Amino acid sequence: MPLPLVIADTPLDATVTGLMAGQVEVLPWSAVEEAIAPQVLGLYTYGHPLVDAALLDRLPGLKVVSNYGVGVDHIRLPAAKERGVRVGNTPGILDGATADMGMTLLLAAGRRLAEGDRYARSPAFTRYDPGYMLGREIHSSTLGIIGLGRIGQQVAKRARAFDMRVLYHNRRRNEAAEKAVGATYGSFDDVLAQSDYVMLCCPLTDETRGLIGASAFAKMKPTAILVNIARGPVVDTAALTAALQTRRIYAAALDVTDPEPLPRDHPLLRLDNVTIAPHLGSATEQTRRQMAEISVENLLRGLRGQELLHRVV
Ligand code: NAP
Repeated sequence: MPLPLVIADTPLDATVTGLMAGQVEVLPWSAVEEAIAPQVLGLYTYGHPLVDAALLDRLPGLKVVSNYGVGVDHIRLPAAKERGVRVGNTPGILDGATADMGMTLLLAAGRRLAEGDRYARSPAFTRYDPGYMLGREIHSSTLGIIGLGRIGQQVAKRARAFDMRVLYHNRRRNEAAEKAVGATYGSFDDVLAQSDYVMLCCPLTDETRGLIGASAFAKMKPTAILVNIARGPVVDTAALTAALQTRRIYAAALDVTDPEPLPRDHPLLRLDNVTIAPHLGSATEQTRRQMAEISVENLLRGLRGQELLHRVV
């Protein structure tokens, strides 16, 4: 029996490849353009390729889109729904790892770790000086979380262990989450104005695209630090660059950028008050293994017409 045909944005890692072996035949993304496209039953999105109506129309036999990760902003969900294509993702299992990365970035930016590391390796470091590289306090400061969902709640728990006061803003107040993690609800403007650290943990949607732009930076404290572990386009990159260059805010720490990666000559890359990670939120061996297992299981279930482990539409 021929194996079901699946298109993926290859190369896939060894774990995903191993889990798919003998179960499906994987074709490269370019197969979307080829004569074989109508026979394709599954789409596996590994690194955020765009899945829009035009692409789905080239794959009339498609049953399932399985995403490696929780964020599905690169998949046009209404278009999939209209065509009866199921979309699966991997929520829940990556919350701890992503929240750990959020705290890693918060701590690194507040205490100027990346800048300090560069200095400690450089010839300029010749003697200890109590006056250099003073950072911002973390304990006893206020963290504002935009998006107190699964990941945001894990961040709040960690921040409480650092004796931080935790504020949050969602579109809907979540009293159960407030009680569980010790967070206080505020309007978007109040959270921005009162926070020493603002961490973005919301999905990228039409509503959150560009949410943190010039008017948001104007509301933040000049000592505030922005941490983005959501998606790059939630922040207006030009406004962020200007806010950091003019010291409108103190610093930023970014796991995600827009575009991603930034062009190598982008002015953000020349600033000392920004710490950047190459989208490492869920990048631990243990979490990525679980993401591989769930996303491949979603794919196989979708191909068999069974309910997915985690279904978005
Ligand atoms: P989730 O459980 O659905 O939580 C999302 C939270 O955002 C909810 O509390 C939601 O509350 C809030 N929200 C949605 N729209 C909002 C808006 N316009 N303004 C304010 N709050 C809003 O999602 P999750 O699993 O925590 O994941 C969140 C996102 O993190 C993902 O979509 C993904 O893009 C990103 N992520 C990044 C990495 C990484 O590697 N950096 C890893 C995993 C996930 P309301 O609905 O009440 O507004």
